[in-house]
Amino acid sequence: MAEIIRSIRGMNDILPDVTPYWQAVEKTLKDVLSGYGYQEIRFPIVEKTELFCRSIGAVTDIVEKEMYAFDDRNGDSLALRPEGTAGCLRAAMQNGMLNQTQRLWYMGPMFRHERPQKGRYRQFHQLGVEAYGFSGPDIDAEMIMMTARLWKRLGLTGLTLQINSLGSTEARLAYRDVLISYFEAHQTELDEDSQRRLHSNPLRILDSKNPAMQALNDAAPKLLDYLDDESKQDFEALCKTLDDAGVAYEINPRLVRGLDYYSKTVFEWVTDHLGSQGTVCAGGRYDGLVAQLGGRAATAIGFAIGLERLIALLEEMDSLPEITSPDAYMVAVGERAAKQSLLLAEQLRDEIPNLKLITHCGGGSFKNQFKRADRSGARWTLILGDDEIDQQIVGVKTMATGEQETVPWDALANYLKQ
Ligand code: ATP
Ligand code: MG
Repeated sequence: MAEIIRSIRGMNDILPDVTPYWQAVEKTLKDVLSGYGYQEIRFPIVEKTELFCRSIGAVTDIVEKEMYAFDDRNGDSLALRPEGTAGCLRAAMQNGMLNQTQRLWYMGPMFRHERPQKGRYRQFHQLGVEAYGFSGPDIDAEMIMMTARLWKRLGLTGLTLQINSLGSTEARLAYRDVLISYFEAHQTELDEDSQRRLHSNPLRILDSKNPAMQALNDAAPKLLDYLDDESKQDFEALCKTLDDAGVAYEINPRLVRGLDYYSKTVFEWVTDHLGSQGTVCAGGRYDGLVAQLGGRAATAIGFAIGLERLIALLEEMDSLPEITSPDAYMVAVGERAAKQSLLLAEQLRDEIPNLKLITHCGGGSFKNQFKRADRSGARWTLILGDDEIDQQIVGVKTMATGEQETVPWDALANYLKQ
């Protein structure tokens, strides 16, 4: 026999024993978002490679080494989306949506060619949220409070909020010079990545995951000390609102985020319960991106949640949502019963639209069918054999107690509704 074809490393199947958790978590997330007036947008998984190069920035991990870019049959360079911010904004620009304010969300797979490990995959899923046309800092605060509410609604603890301000482009440029001088004075202590970034993207050195770089980064000059007045005021207003709302945060002056397009507010929700892949949610303001993509300047802020990490954390904290079992499992022995069970089940579904009812299908002995009923976790087993057909009744076994009664067909829906 030929060997089966296996999936690509870092691209995982999400199997039916866990999809109920995904569905429940996704539903909670969507409910909270719609409670703040956010609307869903869907855009393609494949875009022109140029869109990501121009938005994310050429000297970033994503564009330098993580992007799934390829030439299609026409010779056009396309890429699987590594994140959603660029595609979402492209869609909004292209469809004339930036004349008005927008509150948008999307959910789906993203692709990055990283080294697969716990919490880091090549296909992973994000919930992305973006707001356009709000200059802040009110929306910044609302967005962060909304993320706090997401965790609350999910019953999730163990996350810490870190915030920082990246200031205006000018402030960042001034700081950049200060930072380059600092790192130049310590050039021998820089790792290879940092050497390379020293002049192309020195702020990203602060974002290094290399433990050997920690001490040097900790002692580096702080961007917060170089902020322009407007950014400083916005940041103070943001902190004040979070204080008033009782949302705890830490100011992390080294938080610069991995992507180039951020300015002013940046934030991350991190945990130390997931090993080194501890960022569950990350975002910030990116007012410059619209112009960078050729549009008329418009303000923007957004965040993304890594759903694999969110679900792993829920599991780790023993807070996975409760999953509902089927209401009933219908066993049917004999040809007549097998056929009747399908009709009876359809009738029940007509009468109770959200009923979760599994019909056995496939025959077999009572004993085997009962085993399946038991394993399904159903609350009731409905039993149909020749005798029941003759009398137009069903045996109803309550699985928790083992009690069994008979119920006429026409009374069954009412019985199950209670
Ligand atoms: P990291 O520093 O962990 O590489 P990042 O800064 O590259 O994260 P973002 O681009 O901000 O991540 O993406 C937002 C969120 O998406 C992350 O905080 C994380 O939860 C999730 N995420 C990013 N890359 C991956 C991945 N390869 N596998 C699983 N989740 C990911
Ligand atoms: Mg990354």
